[in-house]
Amino acid sequence: MDIKGETVKQYRIINKFALLVSIIIITLNINTFKVNAKANTNLNIDLNNKIYSLSNKGSDNLLDNLMVALTGKINGYEVVLNENVVGYTVLENNLENIKSEVLKKYISENSIREDMVKSFDIKWDINLREERFDVEMLQTNKEVVDNIYNIAEKDPEKIRISVNYIKEEVNNIKPSTIIIPTEDLYLGESKVEEGQYGLKKEIKEVISESGKVVNTKTIKEEIIKDQVSKKIYRGTKNPYEYGVAFLNHPTRGGVMTSGYGERWHSFHKGIDIAGNIGDDVFVAMDGEVIYAEYNDGGYGNLIIVKHEDNMSTYYGHLSDFNVKVGDKVKKGNVIGKVGNTGFSTGPHLHFELRVNDEPVDPTNYIVQ
Ligand SMILES: [Zn+2]
Repeated sequence: MDIKGETVKQYRIINKFALLVSIIIITLNINTFKVNAKANTNLNIDLNNKIYSLSNKGSDNLLDNLMVALTGKINGYEVVLNENVVGYTVLENNLENIKSEVLKKYISENSIREDMVKSFDIKWDINLREERFDVEMLQTNKEVVDNIYNIAEKDPEKIRISVNYIKEEVNNIKPSTIIIPTEDLYLGESKVEEGQYGLKKEIKEVISESGKVVNTKTIKEEIIKDQVSKKIYRGTKNPYEYGVAFLNHPTRGGVMTSGYGERWHSFHKGIDIAGNIGDDVFVAMDGEVIYAEYNDGGYGNLIIVKHEDNMSTYYGHLSDFNVKVGDKVKKGNVIGKVGNTGFSTGPHLHFELRVNDEPVDPTNYIVQ
C-alpha cells in the first residue's frame, strides 16, 4: 500500500516520538547458514522486547517500519500453507529464509551435522500473501518457523522434509572365531582363547525423511584397530587309543549286572547297568543321534549316537525317547529313559561303545 503521501506527516510524528525511536534497536543480521545459497540480509527491530525481522531495501522501508510502530498497522505478508494462514511476516522475500530456518531446525533436531548435508528438499505448498494487519499479529521468524516445523512433524503429507547427509560412525568389529584342531587335547575337550574387539570408522550416506532414517548406505570403511580372532582349540586325540576314561556314566548310579564278552552261547556286545523304569539315560559324549526307534534284533527301544572319530554309543531296552534322529547332543544330556523293552529280563540299560562299528569293552572308558 502506498503511504508516500504521508511522508511529511511521518517526519513530524517521528520528531515527536524521537524518544520512542531511540528505543528501537536496529541490528544488522547477516544469516550465513550454509545450505541457504543466498545470504539474507535483514534488519531486526526490537519492539517491546519482541524482535521483528524487516527487510533493508532502503530508507523508505525503514520509514514504513517506523510508522508501523506508531500506527499499530503493518503492511506485510501472511504465510499461507495449503490455503491456511500459518504465520505473519513483513519480509516479501522471507520464504527462502523460512525454508532454510525450517531445515536448520530439522537438522538440529535430528542431530545431523550441518557441514555433512549433501542435499535437501522440502515439499510443501506454501506462499506469501500480501496483507495489512495489526502489528500484534506479526511474528518473529522463529515463531513462524516453529509453527511450520510443528506442522511438518505432525503432518508429513503437508510438509515433507528430506535431507541427504553423510555420517561418520566408529563401530566395534566383532572378533571372528577360528577352530584349531589340536593333538594336545582329547576328543570332546576344548580350550578357548578369547578374542578382542576391533574398531572401524564407517562413512555412511543417509537419507532422513520426516524425522526417520529411510536409507543408509556405507560408502567407506576404515579399520582403526583390527580384531583379534577368538580361538577354539579342539582336541583330536582319541582317548580310546590312549586308554583314557572319557565316557560320561550313562545312568545316575546303578550296578553293572552283566559285563562285555562271552556269555553262554552268545557274545554280549556291551554292558548292562541296573536301573528302574523311567530313570534318566545320559549320553556318554557329544554327538548326533542317528537312530531312535524300536529295534527287533533284541535291543528293544534303541538310541544310537554317532561321535567323532567314527565312534558310536548304543542305549538299549529304553522305555522312552527324549531325542530324535538328527538331534545334536552334548555329553550329559538326557536322551531317554531306562526300560525293559526287547530281549530283557528286567529293567536295565544296555550300553555299548563301538569304534569303527566294532563293539569294544566300554568298562574302563567310563568315568566313575
Ligand atoms: Zn546287554
